[in-house]
Amino acid sequence: MKNTYSNVLESIGNTPLIKLQGPSSQTNCNIYGKAEFLNPGGSIKDRAALAIIKEAEEKGTIKKNGTVVEGTAGNTGIGLTLIGNAKGYKTIIVMPETQTQEKIDTLKTMGADVKLVPAKPYKDPGNYVKISARIASELSMNTNEGVLWANQFDNTANYLGHYNTTGQEIWSQTNGNIDGFVCSSGTGGTIAGVGKALKEKNEKVQIVLSDPKGSALHNYIQSKELISEGGSITEGIGSSRITSNFAEAIVDNSYSVNDNEALSILYTLMEKEGLFLGTSSGINVAGAIKLAKDLGPGKTIVTILCDKSDRYHSKIFNKKFLLEKKLPTPNWL
Ligand code: PMP
Repeated sequence: MKNTYSNVLESIGNTPLIKLQGPSSQTNCNIYGKAEFLNPGGSIKDRAALAIIKEAEEKGTIKKNGTVVEGTAGNTGIGLTLIGNAKGYKTIIVMPETQTQEKIDTLKTMGADVKLVPAKPYKDPGNYVKISARIASELSMNTNEGVLWANQFDNTANYLGHYNTTGQEIWSQTNGNIDGFVCSSGTGGTIAGVGKALKEKNEKVQIVLSDPKGSALHNYIQSKELISEGGSITEGIGSSRITSNFAEAIVDNSYSVNDNEALSILYTLMEKEGLFLGTSSGINVAGAIKLAKDLGPGKTIVTILCDKSDRYHSKIFNKKFLLEKKLPTPNWL
């Protein structure tokens, strides 16, 4: 039977490419979004979660009734919890309290042990990633079933998962007719893995980072300096440091995208194309439009539609919040 899976994990990946009509006609290019919001956990991070857990199982780090611990903006936690539930692992998820209530509620309803911590910079020992590492190491002293600290930022199983799946899928879905790939970076897993897969097939494919304000990666690509300016309401993307996954990325160029631009694109995609996308997708599509303009008409560009708007309704459909931040509001709100 076609498209019949023996368990939910087999439904991770193999997502469709969807042509973005407005961005394509505006630039006379073919701009496609890879519909990662269709993964069972609702985001691209199901792929990284699966790759990390599979590797740990192969190494024997974790066995049934073991525990997966992770620091996450939410989506990786959701992916790990869904896989954990399917395989018999408990999950402890450490999240900065600044992330949307929607993601926190989703994790709690899935049965994860969610620990909310104040948002602190990476260099601070109270940073959520550092706390998750400490919880994992303390727990591992008191359990026999194994504890996996997923460590998505510096565990390169993450980018290898995208190299083996997302990147290969994009190459075959475009029949190798692709001029550019654009996406934002949180851990760097997507851009490093997809970029490596595409460059291996054709080194001329442009790999471009689309970076939110407040992230230091754009300046790093432009001038090798980790400097950031401004801020963003987007979640799960941007970085103040070069993670082990991002270190693997071959990046040709970068754009810095502000929230105004990203949100306007999100609202138009909702209103005109029926695509209900999360904040990082706005940054990604904005970057794809910029690359299309730079490369010129007739080119094919792929970006990532990471998750859906419903993870962010309390922000991107909250008129008071948007007006306070001087951001655009959807005209039907
Ligand atoms: N978009 C969303 C919504 C995410 O949750 C993440 C991961 N934190 C990303 C984009 C970035 O993906 P990556 O970690 O592979 O760089």
